[in-house]
Amino acid sequence: MKAFFHKDQLEFHPKFEWALGNRIKHPETTKRAQNIFRKLKAESWIELAEPPKIPLKAIRDNHNYQLITLYNTAMELADEEAYYPSVFPQRAKAKADPTNINHAGFFCFDSGTPLNNKTWQAASWSAASSYYAAKSVLAGDPVSYALSRPPGHHASRDTYGGYCYFNNAAIAAKVLRTKGRVALVDIDFHHGNGSQEIFYKSDDVFVASIHGDPREYFPYFCGFPSEQGSGAGLGHNLNVILPTGTKWPAYKKALRTVFLNAVKRFEPDFLVISAGFDTYKLDPIGRFALETADYKKMAKEFDALKLPTVICQEGGYFTRDLGDNVVSFLSGFKDRK
Ligand SMILES: [Zn+2]
Repeated sequence: MKAFFHKDQLEFHPKFEWALGNRIKHPETTKRAQNIFRKLKAESWIELAEPPKIPLKAIRDNHNYQLITLYNTAMELADEEAYYPSVFPQRAKAKADPTNINHAGFFCFDSGTPLNNKTWQAASWSAASSYYAAKSVLAGDPVSYALSRPPGHHASRDTYGGYCYFNNAAIAAKVLRTKGRVALVDIDFHHGNGSQEIFYKSDDVFVASIHGDPREYFPYFCGFPSEQGSGAGLGHNLNVILPTGTKWPAYKKALRTVFLNAVKRFEPDFLVISAGFDTYKLDPIGRFALETADYKKMAKEFDALKLPTVICQEGGYFTRDLGDNVVSFLSGFKDRK
């Protein structure tokens, strides 16, 4: 199995975030990716590959000009400087100027996702990992993994947040949709609001997310079962909420009875998995209680669909066990021919 990762994804170091008024150590560290990389390297059946540069068009297909411009503006920040918006304008959107870093709040929805002069570099290499993972599946690989860090599923066409800048899974889905119907399934603890928004009106990409209750957990404003798509996309968006503390038996039941049945009804040609591991029992942010061995069982449920599959890394913040959880998940696809 190919696993895509570029070392410049490690150039970005968010140091802290504002959480409920407190300045805390940023959970989305480079150590996360390094831990995963080290564990992948120890597995002989995993072939690590460094992606080439992503064509700018692939990013533009997914994100608007203003968001891309803002990340370019951030490249002018001094080293060690990080910009956290403190104003999030709800009005006068027409005045938003992405060449002015002080307008970043127009394009951002939280205070945990800083910009600095390396954001563009790391985020575009992360996008490259998922783009080329999708390309490899189009070229005939049955399953491919992108160690996409920074993660992506909270980023929409014109907004960043939730530690996400470019929506890596959506970029992969757009590569695959040129050749068929795509199911984008999100197993991160948090609702994939960006992916939902990007494909909300699409009839060729089905988005399904299984997550903690957004009344209690990030992103708070969406991820509810009533959100089912609109226009041509009506019926092509699914949100499944599970209670705090969910363990594998209850997770599996929801996965089989609701989630996977809906995916099958859509009759996709390809599968993209937004693979977050903050559903792990020790995760400091997520509040489910899955074990390392459960990720292999979960992967086998997806593997049974027998679809060409791209797996994109999302969250997972208990760094010590993160690589083991990723390898456990990937091993569920190991026997695919
Ligand atoms: Zn998450």
